Amino acid sequence: MKTLVLSAKWEPRPDYRVSEFEKRTGKAIEGFNVWRYPRLELKGVEQPEPGPGEVLIRVKACGICGSDIHFYETDKDDYILYPGLTKFPATIGHEFAGEIVELGRGPEAKGFKVGDRVTVEEMVWCGYCRPCRDGFPNQCENLEELGFTVDGAMAEYIVVPIKLCWKLDAVFERYSDEATAWEVGATTEPTCVAYNTIFECAGGFQPGAYVAIYGAGPIGLGAIQLCKAAGATKVIAFEVSEVRRKLAKEVGADAVYDPCKIIPSEVVMDLTHGAGADFSLESAGAPEKTIPEMEKTMAIAGKLAVVGRAAQRVPMYLERFQTRKAKLYGAQGHSGYGIFPSVIRMMGAGLIDNSKIITSRFSLDRSLEALEKATKREDGKIIIKP
Ligand SMILES: [Zn+2]
Ligand SMILES: [Zn+2]
Repeated sequence: MKTLVLSAKWEPRPDYRVSEFEKRTGKAIEGFNVWRYPRLELKGVEQPEPGPGEVLIRVKACGICGSDIHFYETDKDDYILYPGLTKFPATIGHEFAGEIVELGRGPEAKGFKVGDRVTVEEMVWCGYCRPCRDGFPNQCENLEELGFTVDGAMAEYIVVPIKLCWKLDAVFERYSDEATAWEVGATTEPTCVAYNTIFECAGGFQPGAYVAIYGAGPIGLGAIQLCKAAGATKVIAFEVSEVRRKLAKEVGADAVYDPCKIIPSEVVMDLTHGAGADFSLESAGAPEKTIPEMEKTMAIAGKLAVVGRAAQRVPMYLERFQTRKAKLYGAQGHSGYGIFPSVIRMMGAGLIDNSKIITSRFSLDRSLEALEKATKREDGKIIIKP
């Protein structure tokens, strides 16, 4: 079968101390300090076979994520840009939907059958470590990640643990066109990342709240829809890309601005009549620019949540947090807490319509071209269809 494989050279930067964990597992904790000279290739490999507790899925649609672009793009020393957990070579791709075509042996296969249409969590949490047993799968100590440390879904087939699968029946009931349903199914994962941040990690907001969203990439676009569905009075979005500003409007943002043309904090104070934002989301991955703006507009008891990734320090004026009784929340991942089934239900009910954010489609044969297009950051979501 065909698969899109990323290879890179393990060559830690001279000032990076490789930990015992990294030596033992071959997994880099800080990818951008270790992996050099990335290379993407379409390869022919043997079709994988599901073991006990696993299923074989025929991939129908797989989205390109910002992380995939950061594997492919390099800095001036030819290191990848992605800062997190990684082990290469690996087939990339982690936002996908497909059909179960074979079940591995074992009792875990109960509840699923050949022909089921599913999407899959990207985080392969172990279920045995202390964070997992305490109910924090997104903080698993033995984490593997599909498309990051083990083979992902930019391939004709993928084998995954069945405990990560979620049925997409509600989505197929909503969209009469099957091709659209598969594509929408593949966007479940990034929407779940937004859901985990807003509702699970930061505890959400009261209906009637004012919300400001910085960054309208796929996670920000999911966040806009989730916040509207949860009863936000006004959702104000900031986004540098024109295409994404249009999409933000289309999925329900009340006001959308190019942050290079205005001063976001002034806009937020103006549109909230001086009250400020009850909830602000950093989904741009540019906290050095966004946090100082968010800080100036926190409503009393306001919340700031961070989901965009950026490996850097950010200056913060804590006095403002004290006087406003404000809070800052960090978030990563999408597993647990009923997140996947809730998002699938919301997509089935039409509260979220990700068919609007899909802007390009490519076959697996043209996936390199798709990645190249993704680096221009002019798309909402690009989908690969094996
Ligand atoms: Zn992703
Ligand atoms: Zn674990």
